[in-house]
Amino acid sequence: MIHPPGSTIGIIGGGQLGRMLAVAAARLGYRCHVYAPEEAPPAAEVAACFSRGDYSDEAALERFAGQVDVATYEFENIAAGPLSALARQTPLYPPRRALEIAQDRLDEKAFVSGHGGSPAPFAAVADLSDLEAALADLGAPAILKTRRFGYDGKGQVRIGGAGEAAAAWRAMSGAPCVLEKLVDFDAEFSILLCRSAAGEVVLWDSPRNLHAGGILRRSTVPAGPALRPAVAAAEALALRVASALDYVGVLALEFFAVGERAVFNEMAPRVHNSGHWTIEGALTSQFENHVRAICGLPLGAAARVAPGVEMRNLIGDEVEAWLEILAEPAARLHLYGKQGARPGRKMGHVTRLIGAAPA
Ligand code: AMP
Repeated sequence: MIHPPGSTIGIIGGGQLGRMLAVAAARLGYRCHVYAPEEAPPAAEVAACFSRGDYSDEAALERFAGQVDVATYEFENIAAGPLSALARQTPLYPPRRALEIAQDRLDEKAFVSGHGGSPAPFAAVADLSDLEAALADLGAPAILKTRRFGYDGKGQVRIGGAGEAAAAWRAMSGAPCVLEKLVDFDAEFSILLCRSAAGEVVLWDSPRNLHAGGILRRSTVPAGPALRPAVAAAEALALRVASALDYVGVLALEFFAVGERAVFNEMAPRVHNSGHWTIEGALTSQFENHVRAICGLPLGAAARVAPGVEMRNLIGDEVEAWLEILAEPAARLHLYGKQGARPGRKMGHVTRLIGAAPA
């Protein structure tokens, strides 16, 4: 179904992903209505409408859904009840099933494995004795992650040896977890694709990603020749996953490269931080193509527009360098309008085209 320009897109979640989606939507003549619990979230500042409400408030989400033509989300932790209330009222993309799978690390690993992906060795952990058994089985170092509600390194703790198990388990406050063997990877990369309801797919160049403390610091394209075999295998897997889910919108899958192998880490059924480079670095950005896909429009080309592109997140007080960044003529600065540069908080990003004609 086509939702023509002038329609209202509902965005659940008010962070920077929603903000960049709303900007891309506005450029195509759409109105956005943001739903989020915060008082003044970054996305609401650039959207036509804002409804403040909790993600667990079924009635409020249903009302919101009645006010939009099509809905999408930039925030993944919406419970099943509110999600179905929403989907009763309005078309919701990406499909609910993708969101439900991605909400649980165990379901996600099982689903992706079922389509030929290989995650790091892992075990489900429900209590301390599970954790001790899993550690004995997988070996240290390992990483304990909550099955649900984790992001940007939150809800995870590294375990160097059996002696650290009890403290790690306490840190999880009894939440169901998964223990993963720590992968000694050569590099991290992600696959970013966009799929339309008609099954048309575009793939952006895969970025090589650098994380610190569980938070993305930098994405660079191209990822480099050494990663080509792993990227090719990961692309094929991502295409199978997208088609199995009858997916609509942008889908991101994150991987560790180990030699020629692609070890699956996690998937995000939404626009993704490692795709921010596409705003200036590709003919069509991830945000624009997500809007196109959920509105039933043809997708734009994902081709890269420069020999290389680098995106760096501005985390915490790094954002204070905004004036220096602006003094660099070819650097493209994005600020998310957030108040309070707390450590670990994504405040903005900067994109540089490498090897492009000087500005
Ligand atoms: P996640 O939230 O699962 O994406 O984890 C955030 C980051 O922590 C990843 O991008 C990696 O840098 C690191 N990490 C997570 N799981 C593992 C693992 N099993 N082995 C090595 N590094 C990991």
